[in-house]
Amino acid sequence: MIIRSELPELDIAKVDILTYLFPDGQPVSDTPVWHDAANPRKNLSPKQLLLWVRRLALGLDRIGVKHHDIVMIYTPNNYFVPVAYLGIVGSCRAFSAANPIYTVPEVTHQLKNTGATCILAHPSMVPNAIAAATAAGVPKERIFQFNDEPCPPLDGIKDWREMIASPQDAERYQWKRLRGEEAVRTVATINYSSGTTGLPKGVMVSHHNLIANVAQTILARWPELDVEKGEGPREKWVGFLPLYHAYGQLWVNLIATKMSVPTYIMKQFVYEDFLQHIQDYQISHLQVAPPIMVMLTKRPETAKYNLTSLKGILCGAAPMSKELQNSVSRRFNVEVTQGWGMTEVTCGSIIQLEPNDSGTVGKLLSNTECKLLDDDGKEVDYGMPGEIYIRAPNVCLGYFKNEEATRESLSSDGWLKTGDVGVVNKEGMFWIVDRKKELIKVNALQVAPAELEAVLLEHDDIADAAAVGITLHDAEWPRAYVALNDDAKGRVTAKDIQQWMKSKVAKHKQLVGGIAFVDEVPKLASGKIQRKVMREWAKRDAPAI
Ligand code: AMP
Repeated sequence: MIIRSELPELDIAKVDILTYLFPDGQPVSDTPVWHDAANPRKNLSPKQLLLWVRRLALGLDRIGVKHHDIVMIYTPNNYFVPVAYLGIVGSCRAFSAANPIYTVPEVTHQLKNTGATCILAHPSMVPNAIAAATAAGVPKERIFQFNDEPCPPLDGIKDWREMIASPQDAERYQWKRLRGEEAVRTVATINYSSGTTGLPKGVMVSHHNLIANVAQTILARWPELDVEKGEGPREKWVGFLPLYHAYGQLWVNLIATKMSVPTYIMKQFVYEDFLQHIQDYQISHLQVAPPIMVMLTKRPETAKYNLTSLKGILCGAAPMSKELQNSVSRRFNVEVTQGWGMTEVTCGSIIQLEPNDSGTVGKLLSNTECKLLDDDGKEVDYGMPGEIYIRAPNVCLGYFKNEEATRESLSSDGWLKTGDVGVVNKEGMFWIVDRKKELIKVNALQVAPAELEAVLLEHDDIADAAAVGITLHDAEWPRAYVALNDDAKGRVTAKDIQQWMKSKVAKHKQLVGGIAFVDEVPKLASGKIQRKVMREWAKRDAPAI
């Protein structure tokens, strides 16, 4: 059976994202929206943001970054990141962000894979950006320092403010308007996801995808508001979700803009600062991932702060037990709701519309269809587990320069294979019960086993390797099963390999779940790793770790 959203059908605008966020002829507010959480006097109103966006857009034109080129940003959060995002996307270029903790090989890979022609890098990331750009063939003149404060030249790299247009010139700048199919087909963002299998791939999300997901989310969360008439909720948010991830991008760059919700952006997530900001700025709502929920319940610092301003918490990006959800809800007297999504659906597709203590992730957003299939590809009935397939206007265009992976995940009639296993009841409520795909989620961030395996196989002493997620203390961690070359047995230790991984991949990809040496990695005749066996091994080994 096909499950359809019970929410009203939306007529989703086929325009570019800037035209959607700042409709022609409507006044643009001059009340601050994005604040530096550490110093809220530093802030931007939508009017100021739009001027910066135009300045950046025109600056990119002038230095010769073409329409449809990809611009990489490589920075921790700051309250100017929405400017970079909308300046790039709004001027018909694609935004691709690298995680600020990425190593040089990881950034190089993303630069090569996207073919980015310009990089905006935080001053502390300039040395890495230069090294990666050199390896990927991006000219040094196309790297700019990007920060909320002006910065002096560093290693010959100028501040982005020196590249952008003057306010006077920018006032006259007209961004390229996209209409109809052009808005549906033009790529706006390329975030990375491994999908159901293999290495991380660039997910092409279009202007129409972004607009659809903003409109769907707003209708589900605030059905009473008419945002097209400029109405917004009386809420305040902390912007700590990483802005290189779809979740942060949708809420902080887009929904906050569409509804002018005051948002206090943290440059770095420090738990006590986060609590302090909730108390000081009277934050009403949070968008979080499960690790924050764990901190709220377990960390003793929580009790030192007055968090009574909190009214609602939305949690997504990774599994959360109903016990955790309900305990946070009771302790802070807040409505805790869950949502489910993935990079390939722009951000989200299922969201809880009302309080419920059963652990449900909620119901389908507007304009969304879903089917659940068993291992034989047959549709399952209500109450039975099946792999979730989604068809909706927020489903991405496919994987960048990877038609094969696109074909494997997206059918010609628009169904996205998610790799997540769910159950739905007759009222249309979903529960996520398992994950079929290879993905490991560490602190709600993606880690692709295939990437870890490729890195392990670069090690001269490793003959074969398989990576898998292991659940320890209610959290998932990468673990590797490694077969050493004969001459390395007894000589190479797990510690040696851990040390080596440190130089290769970012912190969340480290093998915190441990390394076990095996004689052989179990494989099918085709040479594919037997993922099911790996999961069983990890389950078997978890109690001993
Ligand atoms: P990402 O593309 O990084 O957003 O990761 C998407 C994946 O995170 C999904 O395919 C799920 O495996 C997992 N995920 C996201 N939200 C939830 C949720 N509410 N419950 C369980 N898993 C989730």
